[in-house]
Amino acid sequence: MTQGQPILHVESLSKRFGGLVAVNNVSFQVLEHEVMGLIGPNGSGKSTTMNMISGALKPSSGAIILKGQDLTRKKPHEIARSGVSRTFQLVRILPELTVLENVIAGGVFGHARRWGKEVETFAAELLARVGLEGQSGKPVSALTYIDQKRLELARALASEPEVLLLDEWLAGLNPSELTVGIDLIASLRQEGRTIILVEHVMDAIRSLCDRCLVINSGARIAEGTPEDVLSDPEVIRAYLGD
Ligand code: ADP
Ligand code: MG
Repeated sequence: MTQGQPILHVESLSKRFGGLVAVNNVSFQVLEHEVMGLIGPNGSGKSTTMNMISGALKPSSGAIILKGQDLTRKKPHEIARSGVSRTFQLVRILPELTVLENVIAGGVFGHARRWGKEVETFAAELLARVGLEGQSGKPVSALTYIDQKRLELARALASEPEVLLLDEWLAGLNPSELTVGIDLIASLRQEGRTIILVEHVMDAIRSLCDRCLVINSGARIAEGTPEDVLSDPEVIRAYLGD
């Protein structure tokens, strides 16, 4: 899918936790229909950046603009309603609900307005979309780990996001599950979804990202195609730890 206009603008974003600057003056744009990788070593500020975009954390300074709408000080449910949805690094499904109910719950704060039977039909479609057909009535506790991951994805898609944030969605998958997981994200990319992908798995970054932003110690150190940034000496140094 050809990429479009910039849809999300992140401007001079910073987050301080006491004396620690977890994210330091980071700016980037995300184009419609692109998969933008946000990569960097452990503790570099990736999740903190994702948390600020989704509203889970308030930025210390900077701005987050989606299609001209300022999301910077908005609450998480308002941001979801505006069209940003996310998965969490640790799966956050609601264990007391069924698989289908979890997906429906994911859509509640979305910006789509559906009613009655339509809600259920749409949720069932999403379950099929992520490979969970036939599992709707199961309690979440009966799902395998990868199926919980699939559910987490369906839940994030339920709000019909303009921008989908995936924070290490592939983490914890075994090698064969990883292939399935990468294929699933690839199919979302194929559909033209706009995604910010935080990932450690290099194969995933190489095959899925149109462009990568690399941060280290909270600051941007490189930006470009996966091949370019992953062969950049400064990026290699950052990953090896200096
Ligand atoms: P990444 O996702 O890139 O591994 P994080 O964004 O989780 O990194 O963390 C960036 C830095 O901010 C780390 O040093 C981490 O310890 C710190 N940090 C993250 N969240 C908090 C918090 N709620 N309070 C204090 N420090 C935090
Ligand atoms: Mg993280």
